[in-house]
Amino acid sequence: MSEIKKIAVLCSGGDSPGMNCAIRAVVRSGIGAGLEVFGIQKGYAGLIEGEIHPLQVSSVGNIIQHGGTILQTSRCPEFQKPEGRKIAATILKKHKIDALIVIGGDGSFNGAILLHQEHQIPVIGIPGTIDNDIDGTDYTIGFDTAVLNAVEAVDKIRDTANSHARTFIVEVMGRKSPAIALKVGICTGAENVIIPTAHIDYGKIANDIDRGIKRGKTSSIIIAAEGEVEGISHTIQKELKDRFKLQAHVCILGHIQRGGNPTPTDRLIASQMGYQSVKAILKGDHASATVFRNGKVMIAPLKECLRKKNEFDLSDVELLTTLSI
Ligand code: ADP
Repeated sequence: MSEIKKIAVLCSGGDSPGMNCAIRAVVRSGIGAGLEVFGIQKGYAGLIEGEIHPLQVSSVGNIIQHGGTILQTSRCPEFQKPEGRKIAATILKKHKIDALIVIGGDGSFNGAILLHQEHQIPVIGIPGTIDNDIDGTDYTIGFDTAVLNAVEAVDKIRDTANSHARTFIVEVMGRKSPAIALKVGICTGAENVIIPTAHIDYGKIANDIDRGIKRGKTSSIIIAAEGEVEGISHTIQKELKDRFKLQAHVCILGHIQRGGNPTPTDRLIASQMGYQSVKAILKGDHASATVFRNGKVMIAPLKECLRKKNEFDLSDVELLTTLSI
């Protein structure tokens, strides 16, 4: 018989559409297996402040279709220090919580593994971030919805751009990760994509726009990932104007990409991950994560999911360049 009787779930870092589906799956799988399930509000910050409450089957009714997270999320600098994690562990032990499920990104996973190493609390990570930038998993909850939101927006921008023969720079989310920019670029037939930290070849962008105009294109779209330095789109706009006398409009999509109803893909994978996370706890896993590999949700060691290098699969850049002539 499993020793586990009480589990808790929290969301941490940036919110992503589909987190609610994962919470629902954790709660219903846990209760279905005879466990008591607790929700922790506002991530690690809420944990340190003891914002823990029991969740029932009905607590997660009618949330599967909603973006955001009913548990809310936060960033918590205090948890990055050993003292903060010690308070968190004391609170979990006080509530007799036997295992913690953390839905979040790379930073949240780093915190979870430290909580486990320092205080022996079993932790399971569920990858939830729109950036699709966690090691060891091909997919993170929220990516599909964020891409859909951006694609729909760019399609609308293309309509107006075509009508006025305009160039648009559309800024999408992705501080370090090129994933949203690349997928949106391919799916909207963008002429150029700017990805974080990559060298920007303004001469090539100007040539591409010029070539498009010569062959009768009525618009040009440049998708720019936001990167870590604010204002990338306006920098590109200024460079194109100063160096090549090219006028471009800027549209920053911002948080609109995070909101809205999760797509069926996000709902399905989040449900599978929530369910698998509870199974992993019951099996006695101590520091694992749910991952998506080869089209399936499975369990892997949490340490495999911590980003070792800031490297991304850029093979789609070639596809985009080939198709955007
Ligand atoms: P994400 O989980 O989406 O990557 P963040 O990087 O903001 O988002 O991390 C979310 C929270 O996880 C942070 O506010 C902090 O509480 C915790 N965290 C992040 N990095 C670490 C770390 N190296 N050690 C301990 N806790 C961390």
